[in-house]
Amino acid sequence: HELETEFRKDDSFLKAVNKVSYTLEEGEIVAFVGESGSGKSVTQYSGLQLIEMPPGRIAGGQVLFEGEDLLKHKQNSKEIRSVRGGKIGVVFQEPMTSLNPVMTVGRQIEESVMLHLNMNRKQARQRAIELLTQVGIPDAESRVDDYPHQFSGGMRQRIMIAMAMSCNPKILIADEATTALDVTTQAQILELLRDMVKKTGTSLVLVTHNLGIVARYADRIYVMYAGEIVESGTCRDIFNNPRHPYTIGLLRAVP
Ligand code: ATP
Ligand code: MG
Repeated sequence: HELETEFRKDDSFLKAVNKVSYTLEEGEIVAFVGESGSGKSVTQYSGLQLIEMPPGRIAGGQVLFEGEDLLKHKQNSKEIRSVRGGKIGVVFQEPMTSLNPVMTVGRQIEESVMLHLNMNRKQARQRAIELLTQVGIPDAESRVDDYPHQFSGGMRQRIMIAMAMSCNPKILIADEATTALDVTTQAQILELLRDMVKKTGTSLVLVTHNLGIVARYADRIYVMYAGEIVESGTCRDIFNNPRHPYTIGLLRAVP
C-alpha cells in the first residue's frame, strides 16, 4: 500500500495523505493512530475507492492486494465491487454508512452473501442468522427481520461487524468502530473482533484514538501525522521507545 490522495481546495489540490506506505500481513492486527484529520480514514478508503473521487483524486501510488493494484480499477467498477464488501470488509466510522435504514438487517447480510459467496436465499438467510448469533444478537432468529433503527447503537455496531465478516474477508477495516460505545460494550466488541479474525486468519486494521485498545489488541502500530506515517513498529517498540514528537506527546498524555 503506497498512496497519495488529494482533495480539491479552491483552485488547487490539498494533499490529504502523502507517501503513505504500509504492509498488512495475513492474520495480523494492525492499528492506525493519529490525531483527527491526520489521514487515517483517507488512507483506508482510498484503496477501496470508497471516497468520492471528484473533488478528491488519487495522485499516485499503488494498493496491492493479492498481487493486483486496486488503483488500476475505476471507482465502482466490477473489480472494485467484488473486493469491497467481499474480500475486504469495512466497518465505517459513521455508524449508519454501511447499514441501509429501509432494509431488514437479515436481508442486508443475505444480499451481500448472495453476491459474493454464491449462495441461494435460503442458505444466505441461515448464514445471516448464524452471524448475528455469533456477534451476540440475542434471539437472532426472530430479530433477523428487524430494521437497523430497532437495535441499540452497540447492537448496530455488532450487526455491521456481522455484515463486514459475512463474506469471509481477507481484510477487515474497522474505522473507529467502537468509539461511540461505553467501555464495557467496546471491550466486548473488540474481543469479538479479535476472536473472529484470529479464527479465520483475516487481517484486521484497527483505526483508533485509543491507545489502551492499541496496547491490548494490536500486533503492530502505524502512527500518522499530517497525512504521513511518521512511525511504525510493534506495540512494544513504539510504547517503549517512541521517536516522533507526536507519539511522545501522545504517550505522555496517557495516565
Ligand atoms: P478522524 O480521526 O477525525 O476520523 P482522520 O485521520 O480519519 O481523522 P481523514 O478523514 O483521513 O482524517 O482526513 C484527512 C484529511 O483529508 C483532512 O484534512 C480532511 O479534511 C481531508 N478530507 C477527507 N475527506 C475529504 C473529502 N471528501 N473532501 C475534502 N477533504 C477531505
Ligand atoms: Mg477518520
